[in-house]
Amino acid sequence: MGLAAGILEQDPTGEFRHMIHDEVDKWVDQIIDEAFENGKEPTVMELSQLFSKTKQKFFGACFQALIEQKYAGLLEQEFAPCPQCGKQCKKRRGNLKRMVTMQGPSVLKRPWFYCVDCSYGFSPLDKTLEISRKKYQFDVQKKSTRTAAEVPFSSGSKLFADLTEHTVSDHFMHDTFEDVGAYASLEDVMPTQAEIAKRCQWVSESSWPTAFCRMASASVAATLPLPSTSQTQRPQSIEPTAACSVASASVADGLPPSEIG
Ligand SMILES: [Zn+2]
Repeated sequence: MGLAAGILEQDPTGEFRHMIHDEVDKWVDQIIDEAFENGKEPTVMELSQLFSKTKQKFFGACFQALIEQKYAGLLEQEFAPCPQCGKQCKKRRGNLKRMVTMQGPSVLKRPWFYCVDCSYGFSPLDKTLEISRKKYQFDVQKKSTRTAAEVPFSSGSKLFADLTEHTVSDHFMHDTFEDVGAYASLEDVMPTQAEIAKRCQWVSESSWPTAFCRMASASVAATLPLPSTSQTQRPQSIEPTAACSVASASVADGLPPSEIG
């Protein structure tokens, strides 16, 4: 049994608490260095920005520590059954996974297995944790998709960064959005009759531009022609996808990780 697995049996919560205390100390050092610099009198805005700038590294490290303690057994795993044939496979190597969640960046060194009979590689930890093959994990992908549903891709990444303090590219937002759209069928995105009636009521009481997305969504769901946008001058980049964007974003909530990871 490895060291981490031994710790798990002893007191995983105590070890986790200890690791978090270490990270708090590192974070406090960063704050002290900047906030208590001689002669400096930072404003509320500057202090808030200092927290924004430093908290992702802090929370990302805490998040990583939580996984390392909670799943110490899987991280130390030497043998695992092949998901396809059940044959016991020996660990091939430790494989680094760099990932970004809404909490910040984390790195996991997890075991990787390969079944020669099936020519199939797998990571039990990835399956248990539902880790996306992309660097940005599903919590980020979900928010990115919701953002892309509301604004053009060209300004989506900037808005996303402003609101979440996470930087994702226009390209990432577009690809993730397309992945969700490709997976979602009409049956998936079609609202109920009551929801369509509710949206139509909302549209009749609302104004452009948010109303367009909802109206388009309701129109598609009801298999009606989309309203003309010629008079509204909606940016070209959103027009082809706006119709199902709001509805597609909601599908992301229940999207199996394997489909868009
Ligand atoms: Zn196999």
